[in-house]
Amino acid sequence: MNCRNCKNNPVITLPNSNVSLCKKHFNIYFEKKVRKTIRIYNMVDKKDIIGVAVSGGKDSMSLLSVLNKIFRPTKVKLIALSIDEGIKNYRDSNFKFVKSFCKKNKINLYTFSFKKEFGKTLDEIKKKDPGTIPCTFCGVFRRKILNDKALELGVNKLATGHNLDDEAQTILMNQFRKNTRASAVLGPVTGIVNDPKFVRRIKPFYFLTEKEITAFAFLNNILDKYVECPNAKLGYRNSVLELLNQFEKKYPGTKYNIVSSFLSTLPLIKESFKEKTVNSCRKCGAATSKDICQACVLLEKLN
Ligand code: SF4
Ligand SMILES: [Zn+2]
Ligand SMILES: [Zn+2]
Repeated sequence: MNCRNCKNNPVITLPNSNVSLCKKHFNIYFEKKVRKTIRIYNMVDKKDIIGVAVSGGKDSMSLLSVLNKIFRPTKVKLIALSIDEGIKNYRDSNFKFVKSFCKKNKINLYTFSFKKEFGKTLDEIKKKDPGTIPCTFCGVFRRKILNDKALELGVNKLATGHNLDDEAQTILMNQFRKNTRASAVLGPVTGIVNDPKFVRRIKPFYFLTEKEITAFAFLNNILDKYVECPNAKLGYRNSVLELLNQFEKKYPGTKYNIVSSFLSTLPLIKESFKEKTVNSCRKCGAATSKDICQACVLLEKLN
């Protein structure tokens, strides 16, 4: 069997289709898909400063690599933001890779840590509150650092490596937990209303699958020996992921169908939450829909 577009051997058969592509044509397909998502959802303007949130994993590093290729010849500025949560035997090797990648590609990298921002590493938080899944703190604190630092740095869009599989998981998690408010901020461009205190998040990999991104990272030597977070198997997300993978195996296209049907109702969901006002957190001043932001609620719990 040959590549669909040339006589070379294929390196991948695309999920949800029988199309097989060689490395060259897969890379073209991949970049085209990213460009199309950016274009259709008006993700980027000419004068944007985009902060790419990087962890050292395949998704964020592939994203940084593709966005760097697309926007280097333009006026759009790209910087990388990385957060050290303080998880032993996890972040160190990934960080080294992020640093060397940014240096090689001349991308400014800004690093932040839970320890410096909140006084505790995630490992210390885990010890202090063993009853709560560490991902709860991790997600909320990471979002806060990213938003606060993006505002300080003049970043007006935050790009994350979320892919189709991630989005399908989150949609389902929110359904299972009856959390429509959390679903209202999803989509290729996040948020419900434009507010200067929120930096909009964009997901250029929204329609790419985990399999495609893994293949891209491997084929282009973007993936170093990535170490998985030791807490990854503890979260609610992991149970949903396992369930979804079983379904996808039995009924191919399930993940795409979840995301696709969600997108058709998303404008209505967003509309129904539009009237809720954006407040300033009484403790830290950050934007929140409540009186005190979630990060401050969790910090209070810890202290
Ligand atoms: S698996 Fe959980 S603790 Fe680990 S990096 Fe992800 S959100 Fe944080
Ligand atoms: Zn080919
Ligand atoms: Zn706060």
